Amino acid sequence: MAPQPILSFVVPCYNEQAVLPHTLRELLATLGGLVSEGMISENSYLFFVDDGSQDDTWNLIEKAHAENPKCVRGLKLSRNVGHQNALLAGLLGQIGRADAVISLDADLQDNVAITKQMINCFVSSGADIVFGVRSERATDTVFKRKTAQWYYRFLRWLGVEIVLDHGDFRLISDRALRALAQFGEVHVFLRGLVMQLGFKTELVYFERKPRAYGETKYTLSKMLAFASDGITSFSIRPLRVVTTLGLILFALSIVALIWVLAAWLVGRTIEGWASLMVIFLLVSSFQTLALGIIGEYVGKTYFETKSRPRYIVEKELSS
Ligand code: UDP
Ligand code: MG
Repeated sequence: MAPQPILSFVVPCYNEQAVLPHTLRELLATLGGLVSEGMISENSYLFFVDDGSQDDTWNLIEKAHAENPKCVRGLKLSRNVGHQNALLAGLLGQIGRADAVISLDADLQDNVAITKQMINCFVSSGADIVFGVRSERATDTVFKRKTAQWYYRFLRWLGVEIVLDHGDFRLISDRALRALAQFGEVHVFLRGLVMQLGFKTELVYFERKPRAYGETKYTLSKMLAFASDGITSFSIRPLRVVTTLGLILFALSIVALIWVLAAWLVGRTIEGWASLMVIFLLVSSFQTLALGIIGEYVGKTYFETKSRPRYIVEKELSS
């Protein structure tokens, strides 16, 4: 790697015409500052991904590119595919072009001032992934803050590895991106996927700012779909819960059966009740158990179809 790495800032944009001129100014200033301080190569650039916007977003990107073709590049997707897929398109597009990428939102809620620390972690400490962690989220609504907090704790309980209070503001090295490219799944939950890559990681803390201009592009339905992807892409624990439930029900129905038989023996039952109860208890607990067992196989099949890489090589010594 050259002494000064080529850095690419990857920014997904969906209907961001209100904020984009401001974002361009700020990011170009940041880029210029980092280059003149000698932290990154002068071949570093900004990379905007237009996620099928219906407004003027792409025109603004084209205009910025025409004015500054070296520093501003762009990619236009044919339709709206959502933040995670748009970001992935931007990230994977930089493989072989930059030494590291930093992904951030178009609304500049992520504090670009800490990119210096991120680059330092990459250059001096040799970290391949540097996570931007929100030290506080005072600018988000209480609803968003609380639901996010509960959700990430729930994810952890489900066994999903995740960095708490980390969004998609992170630095990724070229070799980590190459590893990410090996994950072929369609439902992308990047903050979970990057945890699967391994490599050396570092955390850098920042305060999340309010959106500079425009409105949030994450509607409630997009947020729910995203939250569901986070769970179902990484955990089959919900299926295991069914198996456990089946086992508990089975044990309980054995106890209930003994009680039913005892009541029948002492003759304190009306005709037909005992036989019906025996069948009902046995069949219903057996069905739950069977669903759980089928679920185990469904879960296995699910992970097999993802055909994720079984290992990722960090270094190799050969003659
Ligand atoms: N975004 C996108 N496609 C979408 C929705 C959002 O590319 O379908 C981008 C958006 O332009 C922004 C980032 O994802 O750069 C985060 O969106 P936003 O700031 O609206 O989300 P919030 O910060 O409110 O969670
Ligand atoms: Mg935002």
